[in-house]
Amino acid sequence: MRGTTITPIDLDYLSLPGAALAFLVEVPDESAAGGVRRVLVECGPEACRPRLESELARRGIDPASIEAVLLTHIHLDHAGAAGGFASRGARILVHPRGVRHLVDPAKLVASSRRVHGDRFDRFYGEPIPGPADRIDAIEDGAAVRVGDAILRAIETPGHARHHHAWMLEHAGGRECFTGDVAAMIVPGSRFISVPTPATDFDPSAWDASLARLLDERSDRLWLTHGGRVDAPHEFLAAVRRRVADEAAFLLETARACEDREAVERYRAWLHPQADAARVPEAMRSAFLGRAFLEMNLAGTRKFLKDQLEPKHG
Ligand SMILES: [Zn+2]
Repeated sequence: MRGTTITPIDLDYLSLPGAALAFLVEVPDESAAGGVRRVLVECGPEACRPRLESELARRGIDPASIEAVLLTHIHLDHAGAAGGFASRGARILVHPRGVRHLVDPAKLVASSRRVHGDRFDRFYGEPIPGPADRIDAIEDGAAVRVGDAILRAIETPGHARHHHAWMLEHAGGRECFTGDVAAMIVPGSRFISVPTPATDFDPSAWDASLARLLDERSDRLWLTHGGRVDAPHEFLAAVRRRVADEAAFLLETARACEDREAVERYRAWLHPQADAARVPEAMRSAFLGRAFLEMNLAGTRKFLKDQLEPKHG
């Protein structure tokens, strides 16, 4: 086998090609069974685990041979399948704030069911609780060695407080798995969409995280929702502008308008930008429709509320 490879696996999330990815990282290592060590960065929702496992099997890979799953954060579209992989023997590496939600997903599931109702099972599926002894709390800056490659956690709050980007350092360069801190790209376009969900959207923390990623000078980015980006500096600078614009608009709108009016005003602001960026109609309604607009406004209202009553812990 050549050097370290990264294979994006499309999870066919919500039957939408390109909506969410997991990344298979394979590192040659003569001391390992079969001469290769394998980890996943992200594993998608539990609802997509059969798809992910069959995509691995199609490549001749036994899902039980995945030695670790590295999570960027615990939102269910990124981490819902982690318990399933842990029950097959994988270690799960996650921000310290995420550990308890993987061991006991009940609270996460209940709040998501409240938001999504009947759609929860199709969106995410019920996660399997992860065995506590297979879940590792990873602090900012901690590095994990896989063969001669290193994966280093970069704490990057803003979209979520329990968020790490993962920097893969190997002979081929420095490649950064950005989770949602580098936002997402709407499939079928290059439009950068900024998801600001409750419970811990924080625009200034997000900006600082993007500044930190710019300083890291990676050779390439891998977005969970968007895939490979070959011009990281240019892209991260564009995301930084988009986050600032979106946050300014959302904060102003959430302060000025009640829910229904706010959704309409947000739609009237966002959709023409998506149209100008040639987002296909079907993708606009799938990714930037009412559910997205409501999610972002809810996250903004939660941020404003926390400004008034700071939360602890
Ligand atoms: Zn996400």
